[in-house]
Amino acid sequence: MPILVVGSVALDTVETPFNRVEEVLGGAASFFATAASLYSPVNLVAVVGSDFPQEFLDFWRSRPINLDGLQIREGRTFRWTGRYHLDMNARDTLDTQLGVYAGFHPVLPASYLESDLLFLANIQPELQMEVLQAAPRVRLTVLDTMELWIMTEYDRLTEVMKRVDVLLMSEEEVRQYTEQASILKGVRELLTLGLRYVIVKQGSYGALLFGADGTYFSAPTYPLEEVVDPTGAGDAFAGGFLGYLSTVAPRADGRYALDDLKRAVVHGNLIGSFACEDFSIARLRSLTMDDIMSRYRSLVEYSHFDPAWNSQAK
Ligand code: AMP
Repeated sequence: MPILVVGSVALDTVETPFNRVEEVLGGAASFFATAASLYSPVNLVAVVGSDFPQEFLDFWRSRPINLDGLQIREGRTFRWTGRYHLDMNARDTLDTQLGVYAGFHPVLPASYLESDLLFLANIQPELQMEVLQAAPRVRLTVLDTMELWIMTEYDRLTEVMKRVDVLLMSEEEVRQYTEQASILKGVRELLTLGLRYVIVKQGSYGALLFGADGTYFSAPTYPLEEVVDPTGAGDAFAGGFLGYLSTVAPRADGRYALDDLKRAVVHGNLIGSFACEDFSIARLRSLTMDDIMSRYRSLVEYSHFDPAWNSQAK
């Protein structure tokens, strides 16, 4: 099942307390496409400048990633610079240069209209809306965003949120958007927009799935001894989530079974954990399904507990 994604493709400069890299491949759509293409074909919609390194295009062409919707424009590729704190769940954006994203309008090639799943990765809400409107037949739509758009494009972002099935937000973003200190109260408010599910990303602590039908599921994270760079972990999460769903058949009513949605959240956590093990897409690039399966088994072991209250109750 092909997955359509629109989002940023960027050159990132990242500083952690231990290291610094300059102008490496970044951008929400880059992390997502690299991760999701482990599961299914990906149709990428984005723009890069004439300075974008050929080697990244060659790498994506070596994967089932369709680049027909990737525009290459005269000018500079989007650039982002971020610095992480010692607690790598927290970071500051030092610089954002939109480059060719200013004035960009996505164009969907005819072949992309066959996509079954849509990921509106982090980018201007206006561009997310354009792609949403151009791809009316997809089975499931998932939206990601960030603080910048909550602060500067609240109304437009809200319009997109009203039209998608699943919203991904970090805990801080839920608080920023809803102005609720309590995540549960914030999520309840978000669900009134008509979303079917809200997934709250908790950085190194896992993720929570909330459904408009009352569903609640808490997925643990895979414990990492060393986090090299968390950039793109959220997009890799989305790649694992939608990647897994692209491999399962929905029920007769077109909806996904709750157990599959839960597995998808676990895949999201796992792929997010791999993304943190190196800079840029380096770890996602070398990742195999065997690596994912082995981490999946460990996570089941780490988080499973007996439903019997005590051993006598068995
Ligand atoms: P994440 O760590 O999952 O939040 O994703 C980080 C990625 O988002 C980086 O690779 C950045 O290039 C990209 N990014 C940062 N700021 C923006 C922005 N304003 N619009 C789109 N993408 C961005």
